[in-house]
Amino acid sequence: MKREHHTGVPGPVTLGDLASAGKLLWCWCSACGRERDLEPASLPLPMTYPVPDVGTRMVCSACGSRKVRTAPELYPGGIVAQRARWGVSTATPPPKPLSASDHSPT
Ligand SMILES: [Zn+2]
Repeated sequence: MKREHHTGVPGPVTLGDLASAGKLLWCWCSACGRERDLEPASLPLPMTYPVPDVGTRMVCSACGSRKVRTAPELYPGGIVAQRARWGVSTATPPPKPLSASDHSPT
């Protein structure tokens, strides 16, 4: 079931890929539109975890929705730094990881 595209990148990007590239994890709540960036290493997830799946382990700290999408960093230094450049304040707390007991074994 492994589909590989000939893009030079086998499989999905993982947290470890972000960490080694010095990139942040971009998190976006599709319910309320909040977005924040998190340090990949700060998450209680294995570094081999695929970035698109991290969102299934997150809950929005603003509205409590679990419709959190995750992707590799969109903006250099993260959305907070980007908004600072735009002159928009961001006082939103980031989505928080679910408890470790919520992780299903692989
Ligand atoms: Zn939300």
